[in-house]
Amino acid sequence: MSTYDVAVIGSGPGGYVAAIRCAQLGMKTAIIEKYSTLGGTCLNVGCIPSKALLDSSHHYEHAVKHFEDHGIEIPGEVKINLEKMIARKQAVVDQTCDGVSFLMKKNNIDVYEGVGAFKDATHLTITKADGSSEEIEAKHSIIATGSKPSTLPFISLDKERVITSTEALKLKEVPKHLVVIGGGVIGLELGQVYRRLGAEVSVIEYMDRIIPGMDKSLARELQKVMKKQGVKFYTSHKVTSVTTSGNEVKITADDKKGNPVEFTGDYCLVSVGRRPYTDGLNAEAAGVKINERGQVEVNDHLQTSASNIYAIGDVIKGAMLAHKAEEEGVFVAETLAGQKPHIDYNLIPGVVYTWPEVAAVGKTEEELKEAGVNYKAGQFPFRALGRSRASADLDGFVKILADATTDEVLGVHMVGARCADLIAEAVTAMEFRASAEDISRMSHAHPTFTEAIKEAALAATDNRPLHI
Ligand code: FAD
Repeated sequence: MSTYDVAVIGSGPGGYVAAIRCAQLGMKTAIIEKYSTLGGTCLNVGCIPSKALLDSSHHYEHAVKHFEDHGIEIPGEVKINLEKMIARKQAVVDQTCDGVSFLMKKNNIDVYEGVGAFKDATHLTITKADGSSEEIEAKHSIIATGSKPSTLPFISLDKERVITSTEALKLKEVPKHLVVIGGGVIGLELGQVYRRLGAEVSVIEYMDRIIPGMDKSLARELQKVMKKQGVKFYTSHKVTSVTTSGNEVKITADDKKGNPVEFTGDYCLVSVGRRPYTDGLNAEAAGVKINERGQVEVNDHLQTSASNIYAIGDVIKGAMLAHKAEEEGVFVAETLAGQKPHIDYNLIPGVVYTWPEVAAVGKTEEELKEAGVNYKAGQFPFRALGRSRASADLDGFVKILADATTDEVLGVHMVGARCADLIAEAVTAMEFRASAEDISRMSHAHPTFTEAIKEAALAATDNRPLHI
């Protein structure tokens, strides 16, 4: 039987990063993955394929709607080859997954393909698809088994017409009418992909706003812009039934007043969140406690109720984000090596990769109000920037929230072009506990979208933006 210092169960961004860091720190490391490709949800059916389709559909939309404005004429009709688009996406996924396999080899990490299950706290059985199994011994284990799409109790996902994000990433045709249940990140990103490709898209959301959890002003702006793009929104609508008949899906929802509203589409994307995944892990055998929400229970050191077993990523509490899982992977590896790592969960950014992109870090205005914090806000619209006009990306703004007394930046919220990348400046500033004035006095290259951050900081400092 092979023995290891650490066995990592699950090869998503949490698991594979944890394995690499463990190996870097000199631990003999194994990683167990039930699927034949490494990379987990993120690389196979999450972050990477969704961004590939967002990029492809963005190019198409530009060619159809905006090339002419730039003086680019395309003789004949611009057409979509969905099969090719999906194949390109798969090629991107395959290359990225191969990259993780390479990293495992480079770091001398043993990869086991099969379902990992605890026999006890230091022994794991790995069962392959053909039913054969082997056992390994591990001084420490890291559970990184991630999450799966969740649904509503009355919805039966046939994965043909009533689908999750996984199927939405490989459709064989552009829907005529895609009904999206859930106005969160995944529903909006995939909804936008198919809207750009020509589908009618209706988003039904239970709450009175989209992207719950993010600053309300971002939700308002994104909804406004996506509405202009043709997406229909039905907020404060509670879905009560989903039925299929042939190629037709009927969705009924109660509106704010309790009146039933009916939607008919050819596809229904159920994107109502994800559930932590521990099926087949046999956690009880190792003394690992799973809480009532299905999450592996951990303490502040990400240690489970079994002291030699840790858990990270989507399978534990907190934001279900790849970069959160990665930070936790590094945290556990360094803890095992006797170091004293730290994660500031307040500074894990959240991003929506629609166009315009939405990104945020720190506290929202709603959170600051609720906590009774005396804060000031500075906001700057992208449309006032030369860079935005040059690329015709005029929608959105940057909003900086700072402590009214100390001027320390408490939250940065933005919606607009390239915000997914711009947010890194805010994370850096907040990590170093910058004041709004600190940011406003830093030189920002002209013309760039980053100038909106400087201007919002000027607005927050002393209400003295220069270009508005
Ligand atoms: P996962 O990536 O879920 O990996 C867990 C792995 O464990 C899986 O490969 C699974 O097969 C394996 N496994 C489970 N049980 C066992 C077992 N018993 N034995 C062996 N293997 C097992 N996040 C972002 O930050 N940015 C984005 O842009 C983004 N876009 C997304 C788009 C979509 C459509 C979806 C669905 C998700 C997206 N996410 C995004 C979320 C992101 O994918 C997850 O937060 C991230 O993958 C979590 O990483 P993880 O390592 O915890 O688990």
